[in-house]
Amino acid sequence: MRICVLGGGVIGVTTAYFLARDGHQVTLVERHADVARETSHANGGQLSYNYVAPLADPSVLPKLPHWLFSRDAALRFVPRLDPRQWHWCVAFLRACTRARSRATTEELLGLGFLSQRLMHEIVARETIDFDYVRNGKLVVFRDRDSFDGARRQADYQAQFGSEQYALDGAACVALEPALAHIGGEIAGGIHTPGEEAGDCDRFTRALARAAQREGVDLQVATEFSGLKTQGKLVEAAMTSAGAIEADAFVVCLGIQSQPLLGSLGVSVPVYPLKGYSLTLPATHATGAPRVSVTDAHHKVVYAPLGERLRIAGMVDLTGMSAHADPARIALLTRQARETFPDAGDYDAAQTWTGLRPATPDSKPLIGATHYRNLWMNTGHGALGFTLACASAQLLADLLAQRSLPINGDAFSPRR
Ligand SMILES: Cc1cc2nc3c(=O)[nH]c(=O)nc-3n(C[C@H](O)[C@H](O)[C@H](O)COP(=O)(O)OP(=O)(O)OC[C@H]3O[C@@H](n4cnc5c(N)ncnc54)[C@H](O)[C@@H]3O)c2cc1C
Repeated sequence: MRICVLGGGVIGVTTAYFLARDGHQVTLVERHADVARETSHANGGQLSYNYVAPLADPSVLPKLPHWLFSRDAALRFVPRLDPRQWHWCVAFLRACTRARSRATTEELLGLGFLSQRLMHEIVARETIDFDYVRNGKLVVFRDRDSFDGARRQADYQAQFGSEQYALDGAACVALEPALAHIGGEIAGGIHTPGEEAGDCDRFTRALARAAQREGVDLQVATEFSGLKTQGKLVEAAMTSAGAIEADAFVVCLGIQSQPLLGSLGVSVPVYPLKGYSLTLPATHATGAPRVSVTDAHHKVVYAPLGERLRIAGMVDLTGMSAHADPARIALLTRQARETFPDAGDYDAAQTWTGLRPATPDSKPLIGATHYRNLWMNTGHGALGFTLACASAQLLADLLAQRSLPINGDAFSPRR
């Protein structure tokens, strides 16, 4: 089959790679001069297959006033005259029930574990260097209530195969000595030895080269502008390099999926959640953590990437602009300095901002649309790197009408 994949982030590239390995003739369209220039560029680097619980959970409801009124909150909401923002927020609030949060956690764990297996297969098969480490993850809590809640979540997830251990503050510091500076503040932590980390940008670029070796026609610097349709069939993707005809089209355009498909009446309930990252020269010898650390209090993640430390956080519901707010960067830098003062050269940190393509229920949209040959693989929110491989496999299985390794209905765009 001739398949045109639209969008060269981590999702589009993995999708093109899996489809090419299935024997399809794949064209991948990306508007930048290389892949992974947008949200997949400098994200948190966590392959956190076990940390997939949705943002939409009853426990967030009491925190809403703080998010609305505090400039220093990890999650910031600036109301806009934008119906998309309000629709998304209403759907998010509707998803904040215990039953839905639990069901989503179980579904996303299935996708996460499949992704981990597929990532291991790719790492074994391809020569790709992306600062990949199987270093485990330690989530530390500074208050007893949050730690108790996390322990209950770990107990719940154990039945689905999550291997996680609760540690007291001293054991957290023993596991990761770089935490010594805040050791006295740590109420406890959850250690997940099986978690991994890597550089999403380098992974995506290397996998794009591997995809080209599998025959993918990578068309970079090519802007997609719309689809030419005939009834319920898509005939061609219109691009700055001309019309691309294909038998099937897969939309992996991240936050641009909605604006570009909305005119066709295809609903893509994705809203941008802006986040920030810092990347600094740092090694374990200079005081950077060796395991991936999440500071649950500030909602900041730390991942060692070779000779660098990636620090990421913040969730801003402030619209489509990727403008970097200096106050947010200053806040992230201050929190990181206070947590790991000796980690590395903060003055040399590179700053970055990206827009997570988030659905209200935190589940990606993978599958068919009401156009016969138009497919979607988008809406991965805060977990696109983690879930990319399984999402691509699921899409390839659906397209080939094969039996699915997990429940595909859970991620259907028409759910
Ligand atoms: C601060 C931050 C930290 C994060 N940390 C993690 C983490 O630790 N672990 C994790 O798993 N995930 C993390 N994420 C989430 C992850 O980065 C995203 O889920 C993922 O990058 C989304 O990939 P994507 O391919 O859907 O989108 P993108 O990477 O945005 O790709 C979409 C592509 O479509 C292209 N495109 C758009 N419009 C057009 C057009 N008209 N024509 C042609 N091309 C077009 C874009 O140029 C882009 O390359 C984080 C995100 C942020 C912001």
